[in-house]
Amino acid sequence: MTGQTIDYMNEYCAHTHTCGQLRLPDAGTEVVLTGWVWHNRDHGGLIFVDLRDRAGYTQCVFDPDCVSMDDFAKAEHLGREWVVKVRGTVRARMEEAVNPNMATGEVEVLASAIAVLNPSATPPFSIEDGIETDEATRMKWRYLDIRRPEMMESLRLRHTVAQAMRSALNARGFLEVETPILTKSTPEGARDYIVPSRPNPGKFYALPQSPQLLKQMLMVAGVERYYQIARCFRDEDLRADRQPEFTQVDIEMSFVGQDEVMALMEDAMAEVFAAAGASHTFPLPRMEYAESMERFGNDHPDTRFGMELVTLTDIVRDCGFKVFSAVAQSGGAVKAVNARGAGDWSRGDIEKLADIAAENGAKGMAWIAFTSDGQEKSPIVKFFSDEEYRALKEAVDAQPGDLVLFAADTPEVANAVLSALRLHMADALGVERAGHALLWVVNFPMFKYDEAEKRYAAEHHPFTRMPDGDIDKIEEAPLECGSYSYDLVMDGYEIGGGTIRIHEAELQRRVLKRIGLGDDEVNEKFGYLIEALSLGAPPHGGIALGLDRLVMLLAQKDSIRDVIAFPKTSSGSCPMTGAPDTVSARQLKEVNLGLR
Ligand code: ASP
Repeated sequence: MTGQTIDYMNEYCAHTHTCGQLRLPDAGTEVVLTGWVWHNRDHGGLIFVDLRDRAGYTQCVFDPDCVSMDDFAKAEHLGREWVVKVRGTVRARMEEAVNPNMATGEVEVLASAIAVLNPSATPPFSIEDGIETDEATRMKWRYLDIRRPEMMESLRLRHTVAQAMRSALNARGFLEVETPILTKSTPEGARDYIVPSRPNPGKFYALPQSPQLLKQMLMVAGVERYYQIARCFRDEDLRADRQPEFTQVDIEMSFVGQDEVMALMEDAMAEVFAAAGASHTFPLPRMEYAESMERFGNDHPDTRFGMELVTLTDIVRDCGFKVFSAVAQSGGAVKAVNARGAGDWSRGDIEKLADIAAENGAKGMAWIAFTSDGQEKSPIVKFFSDEEYRALKEAVDAQPGDLVLFAADTPEVANAVLSALRLHMADALGVERAGHALLWVVNFPMFKYDEAEKRYAAEHHPFTRMPDGDIDKIEEAPLECGSYSYDLVMDGYEIGGGTIRIHEAELQRRVLKRIGLGDDEVNEKFGYLIEALSLGAPPHGGIALGLDRLVMLLAQKDSIRDVIAFPKTSSGSCPMTGAPDTVSARQLKEVNLGLR
């Protein structure tokens, strides 16, 4: 090899250091930095340029005595977001110029040369953290949005979490296996995205709602321990924390029970938390599904604060307030949540909470306000006997300053209403919810009754195994049939869920029939699964972890869109690329489709 001198100022040559790297001990070193012009200013004949790259930013100083006239003129005319390369020498900043809020704030680079690699048009919004720019604009120019340090940090955290997860699973004997995107429907409770097949007129692939059945096939194949950082597609109405495509860490294991799957997940999560610099104690507490519904009104409780739901059904069973007694006597539930600190709210503000109750299915919302000066305001108190009222107050631990909100309905509606009100009131009252709280919610029922469709449906998915003792309940008492199932909950979000699977062909057929599939439908949709289960399927189970939500919570963001490089809007579109888009008549014809 011939010793060549490197021309660092050449356009296609790399930098010597990143913009986040230089510190005091580097003083005196000659460096070459590349990056984007973040801020530039002319200060008493010197030009200051903050040069930014993904690692941070460094102040570069152009002194007319230290650069050519040509280069000084270039520095004078730089614009925001121009791409440049600067050569110079690191020096300590004067004491009064040290910036303690900046990683490189003790030094600056005294420039000796500059090359403009590419000028930039004026960006449509400023590349700063905490900007107010509306989201549609940020998404249209997502590559500019990602240049913002906080976005870059989210992508870095996402990378760290994904790599820690991979390395934890690799170390425990898992194989990373890819499964197809063009596949057959895998029911997870949403609508499928479908793709027409050109060589098979009239036939469609479905994009996977999850790799559920394929990972089960891998267990039948003997892979034994599988994982994949898998993209899943679900065509459903989008909410703040939903995207039409999302990523999950998908895991499946053979010859395990639910304790092994949960233990594996806890070990992996401990490594992820350590890598992400977050803290939590492992192993995690477990809560029965029924207890979670009773105390928090949902199956993904935020256990970082109290304000738990209280059941009052027995106390009000014979009371004079007919709305309560009628519900209590007809198998419904009367429950309450005590919002401590809202007792002095105005009647108008309290009545507005009824909207939240209505959104969750309630016909009304009763309340009692205990003002801090010892009065009790309520439209319903007059209906209770002294004894009932005393018991009720004791049950909710009423104190001056409390606002007690009630729900009386089917247990499902009462829980939905009060769980929404509990979270709303915690926000409204600024209840502290610091740090992270992880727990398992376990032992979900196998089935639920779908009122709209008038049939039973699987609570998790229909591939879930029940304890042996519950098998006969599939036909006899489906709502009493338990299941081997576990959800991982973090800060009030379900971040993962899994089950032990059915590995027996006949049992699988029974469950599919219980949820309303006829024999032909079972064969047509799931024939390959049932056949595989009859050809030496080992007992197996697994879990899937929502990567987007996990990273969102670790990054302390409010939306998964903030931790996805190219997310979609709430109408499922991408303002940057313009997807979804129309296709030509020829393309439609090729796939044997016509538009109505
Ligand atoms: N396939 C399930 C889901 O995507 C997870 C699992 O059971 O492993 O929610």
